[in-house]
Amino acid sequence: MAQKPLRPCRHPGCPELTRDGWCAKHKPKQAPRRESAAWHGWYNLSVWTDDLRPAQLLREPFCRECARRGIRTRATDVDHIRDHKGDWALFIDPGNHESLCHSCHARKTMLDLWQKRREVAR
Ligand SMILES: [Zn+2]
Ligand SMILES: [Zn+2]
Repeated sequence: MAQKPLRPCRHPGCPELTRDGWCAKHKPKQAPRRESAAWHGWYNLSVWTDDLRPAQLLREPFCRECARRGIRTRATDVDHIRDHKGDWALFIDPGNHESLCHSCHARKTMLDLWQKRREVAR
């Protein structure tokens, strides 16, 4: 088998010579991305779409956030009060579910992302 030629690492400015495109230090890591994708699929499981989600919307048909401001809006989304972060027990716990309308859910998701970014920056 012919050896691939040695070339500089693809990382900008890295002088290491390598046969794999990147040197050992700059090789892209894929593991974390794959992990978080696993629980994104939980929202497509029948236990969520046919059971937990409709049960929550039946129990609490109006948006909890809007209710705090005295507005009655029909809920369309089920949110996790505590971010489950891939924790199955938190994901399926009905005590951790709340009903939200689409705009409140979108706003909460944005806020969570923003807070997470701030934690990382600290
Ligand atoms: Zn490199
Ligand atoms: Zn709302």
